[in-house]
Amino acid sequence: MKLIVNEIFYSLQGEGGRAGEASIFIRLTKCNLACSFCDTDFEEGQEMSLDQILEEIGKYPCKWIIWTGGEPTIQLKDDHLAVFRDRGYKQAIETNGTRKVPSLIDYITCSPKQQYETIKSRIPFAHEIRMPITYGDSVPDITVFPQADNYFLSPVFDGDKINIDNVSYCVDLIKKHPQWRLSLQIHKLIHIE
Ligand code: SF4
Repeated sequence: MKLIVNEIFYSLQGEGGRAGEASIFIRLTKCNLACSFCDTDFEEGQEMSLDQILEEIGKYPCKWIIWTGGEPTIQLKDDHLAVFRDRGYKQAIETNGTRKVPSLIDYITCSPKQQYETIKSRIPFAHEIRMPITYGDSVPDITVFPQADNYFLSPVFDGDKINIDNVSYCVDLIKKHPQWRLSLQIHKLIHIE
């Protein structure tokens, strides 16, 4: 089994419900959307066997993997996940909610970009919903999303720079709709990967 990998790096999760936890990020190539605010380079990649990936991530004293992209569900299947699970890894995924998530994932972050109305049919439960918000966006209708432990609004940054207008706007939205919580992209604020 092989996966086309854009990059592997070791850092802290910078946002959402696991913010601050050490994690090994494995960024897979390919995405099925083309969001205007996307600042992720996920096109280039190299084919790696699962043994090669295990060798690479084995350098780090951490047992949490975050599968990200791109849209990692395009490549990732339970057959892949079982190999990492059997080596003792816990596995999180960051998905845009347009595709089903393999069943062996331990922690689902769904960051919806479109097709909101039908997400529940693909993802009945997520550990967190994380909505990117730009000034002027309407507050999302929380009832269209899957049941989740946490619902976050995430102000869109200008590249690596915080956009205070977007942050203030999210703060106002959350004060009016307190089911939502604020998630900042801390990794950008503290200049880590
Ligand atoms: S879904 Fe995510 S990775 Fe894909 S284009 Fe949108 S922001 Fe970029």
